[in-house]
Amino acid sequence: MLIDSYARVVDYLRVSVTERCNFRCQYCMPEKPFSWVPKENLLSFEELFEFMKVAIDEGIKKIRITGGEPLLREDLDKFIKMIYDYEPTIDLAMTTNAFLLKGTAQRLKDAGLKRINVSIDTLKPEVAQAIAGKDVLKNVLEGVEEAVKVGLKVKANMVPMKNMNADEIVDVLEYCKVRGISVRFIEYMENSYAKKEIQGLKSPELLAILREHYSFEDEGFDGSSPSHYYKMEDGYRFGIIEPYADDFCKKCNRIRLTAEGQLIPCLYFDEAMSIAESIKRGDIKGAALVLKEVVRTKPEKNRWGGEDNEISKRAFYETGG
Ligand code: SAM
Ligand code: SF4
Repeated sequence: MLIDSYARVVDYLRVSVTERCNFRCQYCMPEKPFSWVPKENLLSFEELFEFMKVAIDEGIKKIRITGGEPLLREDLDKFIKMIYDYEPTIDLAMTTNAFLLKGTAQRLKDAGLKRINVSIDTLKPEVAQAIAGKDVLKNVLEGVEEAVKVGLKVKANMVPMKNMNADEIVDVLEYCKVRGISVRFIEYMENSYAKKEIQGLKSPELLAILREHYSFEDEGFDGSSPSHYYKMEDGYRFGIIEPYADDFCKKCNRIRLTAEGQLIPCLYFDEAMSIAESIKRGDIKGAALVLKEVVRTKPEKNRWGGEDNEISKRAFYETGG
């Protein structure tokens, strides 16, 4: 079992299989062209799988594939199947912008994927274009429909922003509700790659908007999920992810792996240790030692909302959120 210095059990690994993305979301990626990590620096799926085995053997019970956009990486279903075949009880999930889901959802499910989180920030084509930098909405919604149709469990993420999509909170919730998709509103997390002008809505503002339309009860947190849940009278649950509150970190059970093999103890901070060399030399014990050290050094909490107003230099497109 992996236990950090604050007695939190770490059993959740998020694996970013690529930092590349077909979107340029304003809250995630820089507008200007920038250079990607060279392809030869990426770990192959076989190498990543070697580390998945180490992590599972050490106590990881949930693996989420993310990116960048994970569906840009060829043969993703084969990687999923490798993990599933090694340990079918692993809770195998993926976070995707859904653009390429249509036509791949069934294959991913057949490979062993159980759940997906899709980003639905808007239902207006022109707003989707403004957020993602290209005309994406049609493909995104078709991808979401397909995922529901093939029987994947689907959750949606929305990052509400002032003067952008804040007026669509209820519309996105309704879109999700009728499809049995639980929506989570994520407070925009400032970082040095995002567009400077973005102003995210904080939890009290979101709740005030939602209270104008619905009655709901505060259900609090659910296990280790960072999401604060609310239940409506008809039983529908939505969540708010509030990184600016300390509660976000108290039950944090996760670490992150980048496509280059950097193991990251916290989404906010720059600190990381590489497992790439150990894995490439077949040094399983070495990789396990790095894993334990990263868990040991996991910080108590992030600094969003901290007094120093420091801005995180960790790129979401590298860590996968
Ligand atoms: N490309 C995939 C997607 O967009 O779902 C997976 C990677 S993306 C980095 C994972 C999640 O991080 C998405 O739900 C996205 O909305 C969220 N995210 C990215 N930047 C963020 C930010 N600055 N604040 C809050 N959430 C952010
Ligand atoms: Fe790409 Fe996801 Fe970042 Fe948007 S949030 S730019 S889809 S990685």
